[in-house]
Amino acid sequence: MNLQGLKEKSLACRRCALRSGARQVVFGSGNPGADLMLVGEGPGAREDRLGQPFVGAAGRLLGQLLAAAGFRRDQIYITNVVKCRPPGNRLPAPAEVAACRPILAAEIKLIQPRIVVCLGALATGTLIAPGARITRLRGRWIEKDGIRYLPTFHPAALLRDAAKIPLVEEDFRRLRDAYLELQTEQLTLTF
Ligand code: URA
Repeated sequence: MNLQGLKEKSLACRRCALRSGARQVVFGSGNPGADLMLVGEGPGAREDRLGQPFVGAAGRLLGQLLAAAGFRRDQIYITNVVKCRPPGNRLPAPAEVAACRPILAAEIKLIQPRIVVCLGALATGTLIAPGARITRLRGRWIEKDGIRYLPTFHPAALLRDAAKIPLVEEDFRRLRDAYLELQTEQLTLTF
């Protein structure tokens, strides 16, 4: 199945109750050939209305952080652990995460990113370390199945606590360095 097929499958998904409370399924977006993938939690109100991930206040902040680190949005692929907005923006329940997990796993398989940034505790717990504390793992590279994972704070957490912003700026600088190293490596390999 290709990414478009997966998107269509996900748009028709009724595997959990989140779909009935959401306006639409918010599938991932961005460059399907990206080396860098970012994974958030789940759509918020604006994402639910527009059908795109990270287009609300947290998304704006994320865009600023990415731009400050030298990334353009078209270089990356952005998605969420769950594709339907949880009512009232509550945290998705474990059963909802489990229901949506095959879609995220398939997205990762199709995009084949070299680096995945886990935005917040839910993405970190889902993709690398169930039950892990984000404060302990933040900023640490974790390699798994040939992918380098970087957990960091969710941009919504930065909107609540601006003191965390410099930490994420630092993580994004390290992300940029690793990304540039990867691009250089790939260029060298093609010569
Ligand atoms: N928060 C998320 O985790 N994802 C979005 O798409 C928007 C806000």
